[in-house]
Amino acid sequence: MRKTFLKKMRTTLAGQKQQILMQLDEEIREGKESELDAGMDTYDLASEEREREIHLILSDRDRDKLQAIENALERIEEGEYGICEDCEEEIAQARLEALPFTRLCVACQEEREKEARFQRRIDDGGGFGRSNLVDLDDS
Ligand SMILES: [Zn+2]
Repeated sequence: MRKTFLKKMRTTLAGQKQQILMQLDEEIREGKESELDAGMDTYDLASEEREREIHLILSDRDRDKLQAIENALERIEEGEYGICEDCEEEIAQARLEALPFTRLCVACQEEREKEARFQRRIDDGGGFGRSNLVDLDDS
């Protein structure tokens, strides 16, 4: 992985993280406007307490995304960024640019999605339980 590329990805990831945090700041501010002193700038506060507050207010989806971004930033620091979790090959740079915090290469991602689809088909299939219940209701 080239150093200039890693630097670029770190900037991208840091920007995405900042964006999520700023959105949250607005939500926090709207949510407890009455408690805040007028003119208080929450953007400058980076205390542990604020981190906890943010994690409480985060939706599951945002929490996952923030977690993924933080993990990606950590992997950049540790020199593990851009390596596929499954096959340990380097992930294509174009893919990383499109999905900066992905942990799988295209092939492994497709493999996992195929498995997920297969799993869903098994879960959806059958329907015996439901038809049995209908039969019981009718009788
Ligand atoms: Zn892979």
